[in-house]
Order: sequence, then structure tokens, then C-alpha cells
Amino acid sequence: MAAGAPQRMCLACRTKRPQQSLARIQKGPDDRVRLDGPTRSGGRGAYVCASEACVKRAMEPRVLVKALRLAEPPSTEEIETLTETLTARIRAWATASEQGGTADGR
Ligand SMILES: [Zn+2]
Repeated sequence: MAAGAPQRMCLACRTKRPQQSLARIQKGPDDRVRLDGPTRSGGRGAYVCASEACVKRAMEPRVLVKALRLAEPPSTEEIETLTETLTARIRAWATASEQGGTADGR
């Protein structure tokens, strides 16, 4: 195991994993939840395993409010969009690793 690799905790199952194997969500300046993009804005973030089961568990309004300290819970629509985007991303990661690529996806 590489020494000093940053470990982050999945907000659904609370397992610690290397940061690059987790998807990061963050709170934007508008207090909305978004998937972390290529440029990190430095807002408060949380991590989820690249697992559809964990994504489902993490995309609960209560879970998100607590993890990201949101002023109010995201709407059902926002949760749905976020779940779809996250699921698409982790599927792409799975495909990339099957093809021998990196898990980074960029
Ligand atoms: Zn997890």
C-alpha cells in the first residue's frame, strides 16, 4: 500500500478508502449539492464509494444535509439528477477499469 495516500470515508457505508476510488460531491456557493468537477471550488465536500448501493444510500436528503451542512434539504428533483449523474460516473469508472484504464475518468 502506498504510504501517505489520502483516505476518505464513504458517507453511506463509512468505509475508509483511497480518495481516488471515491466519488466526491460538494456543496456549491449557492448551497446546492453538485458532483465535484475538474476544478475544485474548495467548498465543503463528501465522498461516496463507486458503488450504486452506496450512492443510493448517500442520496438521502437527511444524509446530504448532515454531510454537507446544507441550510435546507435538496429537492427530489435535485436528488434524482445527482443520483443519475453519480451512477453514470461510477459505471464509466467500472468500464474504464475493465479496459485497464485509470479510475480517474478524466
Ligand atoms: Zn460506501
